[in-house]
Amino acid sequence: MEYETVSKILGDLAEMNTREVIFLGEGEPLLHPRFFDIVSEAKQRGFRITAYTNGTLLNHQRAEELVISGLDRLKVSFWASNEDSYGKQYPNSKSGQFTAILEGIHALNEMKRRKNASFPQVFMHFPISKSNHIELEDIVGLAEELNVDGLTVAPVFSVDDRLNHLQFPPSLINHTISLLEGLEPRLKKAGIEHNFPDLKVCLRFGNDVWNYMPCYIGFFHAKISIDGSVHPCCRCNFPIGNLHDQRFRSIWGSENYRQLRSTMMSTAGFKSFIQDNQCVCTYCSSIPNNNRMFKVARRLPYCGG
Ligand code: SF4
Repeated sequence: MEYETVSKILGDLAEMNTREVIFLGEGEPLLHPRFFDIVSEAKQRGFRITAYTNGTLLNHQRAEELVISGLDRLKVSFWASNEDSYGKQYPNSKSGQFTAILEGIHALNEMKRRKNASFPQVFMHFPISKSNHIELEDIVGLAEELNVDGLTVAPVFSVDDRLNHLQFPPSLINHTISLLEGLEPRLKKAGIEHNFPDLKVCLRFGNDVWNYMPCYIGFFHAKISIDGSVHPCCRCNFPIGNLHDQRFRSIWGSENYRQLRSTMMSTAGFKSFIQDNQCVCTYCSSIPNNNRMFKVARRLPYCGG
C-alpha cells in the first residue's frame, strides 16, 4: 500500500480517536520502502504502534531506525526455539538464519541501551502448532536468554486450509494449560510480560465460542488489508467496504457496519454471521475481550446474548 494512502488512513483514524495501530500479516512490514516514515507519522498522530516481523531483516541499521522511529512494540515471530527446528519449520531458509535473527534482537537491545531508549519493547511471538508445541518451555528459556520485554503465544489456525496440517489440536489443550501455569512464575521472576491468562481463556473456549458469547469486534477493531478492503477482523472473509471507494470513517459509520455490530451482538446472530462468512473463530485472540465485554453487557438491558 502506498505511503500516501496509509497517511490518509492515519489521518482518519486520528480524527476518530483511534488508540492503537498494528502492522500484522500480508507480508513483512520491514520490506515496505517507507515503513519508518509510516511509523513516525503514526507516532506523531499519537497512536500506540505495534509491528510484527519475522526478524530476518533485523540488523544494526534497522535497529537504529526502529529506535528513532518511535515504534512502541516489535513482535518477532518465533516458530522454533533453535536452529535445527527453525530449518524444519522453514525448509527454504538459509543456514544460520535463526542465529542471524537472535543477533538482530541483540543488536536492537544494544541500540536501545546505547540510546538510553525504552522503546520499541521487544516481544517474542510464538505461534504454537501441532509440530512445535513441545518447544514451549524452550521458547520461554529463549525469551529469558534474549532478555526480551515480553512473550506472546497464539495457537495456529488456518483461514484457508493451507495451515491445516499445523493447526493446534484440541487434544493438547489441557496439557498446554497446565504447562502455561507452570511457566507463569518463571516469566514473572524474569520480569517478562506475557499473555498466558488470556491464552488460557482462548484455549478453554476452544472452537465453538459462538455457543457461549457474542462478538463485539465491530465496536473496537477493524482490519485493513493491503488491497484497501476493510474487514471486521483478520479471520472473517467479509469486506465491509474498500478505501479506494470511501474514506475509512465513512465505512466505519456505514449502514453495513452498523448492521454487522447489531447482528454480532447476539449469540444467534454471531453464529449465523460466522457461518455465512466463513470466519475462523477457533482460539481467536479477541475472545478474552469479548468475554469481558459480555460479562458487563449481560447486566445491561437489551445487550445480552
Ligand atoms: S474471529 Fe470470530 S470471535 Fe474473533 S473477532 Fe472475528 S468474528 Fe469475532
